[in-house]
Amino acid sequence: MTQHTDVVVVGGGQAGLAAGYHLRRQGLDHVVLDADAAPGGSWQHMWDSLHLFSPADHSSLPGRLMPARPGETYPDAGHVVDYLTDYEKRYDLPVQHGSRVEAVRRDGDRLLVEADSGTWRARAVISATGTWSRPFLPAVPGRSVFTGRQLHTVNYRRPADFAGRRVIVVGGGNSGAQIASDLALNGQVEVTWVTQRPPRFLPDDIDGRALFDVATARRRALDAGRGDSGGVASLGDIVAVPPVRAARDAGLLTAKPMFSRLTADGVRWGDGSRTGADAIVWCTGFRPALSHLAPLQLRGVRGYIATEGTRAVDEPRLHLLGYGDWTGPASATLIGVGRPARDAARDITALCARNRQGNPA
Ligand code: FAD
Repeated sequence: MTQHTDVVVVGGGQAGLAAGYHLRRQGLDHVVLDADAAPGGSWQHMWDSLHLFSPADHSSLPGRLMPARPGETYPDAGHVVDYLTDYEKRYDLPVQHGSRVEAVRRDGDRLLVEADSGTWRARAVISATGTWSRPFLPAVPGRSVFTGRQLHTVNYRRPADFAGRRVIVVGGGNSGAQIASDLALNGQVEVTWVTQRPPRFLPDDIDGRALFDVATARRRALDAGRGDSGGVASLGDIVAVPPVRAARDAGLLTAKPMFSRLTADGVRWGDGSRTGADAIVWCTGFRPALSHLAPLQLRGVRGYIATEGTRAVDEPRLHLLGYGDWTGPASATLIGVGRPARDAARDITALCARNRQGNPA
């Protein structure tokens, strides 16, 4: 049986919850369909030692401040899961967990949302599926001949899983630096950290707070026609969170340039020398999880969808929220997703009002 609603939000992580909060404030009927069985989005799947790079009061969704934990400046992932679980309940958001959306299609003046739990006809859709379910692995020669274990950031849990092993960590971003530090500080893992270009650490006194300020200032400058101030990337790539600082200062975090290929039992470097390895951890990023939108045929350059703010340029009933700066400045952060979520809800409210005038059904 097909159900009817104003808006379907696809994904119930922080972006989907922020959308739900603002849709509720706008008084729009909506449902949030989330593939995960439990609240918390990707935070429930991250590695054991992961902590936020901003304090709690700079990691809040609209309406409710994330509480700080005594003695802990940077909350851990479990704290974020607790916060999102509470947020969902507190605002009584209509989240249906364990409901995966397979396809979104056009159906006359509505969008049809097909999930494994049922079908919805909606005036608008907000897609907030994140990137965690689409890990990116680069095409590196020899990847299929390596006989050791290969895993991505999404599969890494804890150093104890690699005790006594030789591990190569690939990636010069935050995940690469943090996982290499986690393994190196454990003392029982032989770690080699590999980056495509020399790692760029942000100054030690810069954390997520400053990054958010820079992203906001950039947006304001662009909006006011004052040109591009360079954004966060101009400062560096790696936030020197406490474990990264500790590993770096202990001389345990020295990066080697990328190897030229994988071999059966390790890697070969540009100069022909070899290093044996039992495992490779690919910390090589993510792509937006957009396969459910394929029937809309909107995908442009490199699989991204052209947006104006959060609205899809070629399908104004569709909004994309939380994937990265292309869906709003800092929208892939806890503190940054509130504003684009509010703008999306307002835009959809206006659309629904126009829609109802033309078709009150
Ligand atoms: P997700 O949390 O991934 O949620 C997406 C939800 O959509 C999931 O629940 C999933 O089940 C669901 N879903 C996916 N596909 C479907 C489908 N087809 N149908 C239905 N449901 C679906 N941000 C910060 O603010 N501070 C930090 O310190 C910080 N650290 C980070 C560290 C790491 C290692 C990573 C990867 C990111 C970090 N981020 C941080 C960035 C960002 O806050 C997170 O990536 C965040 O989880 C993104 O939220 P989201 O709601 O967009 O996506």
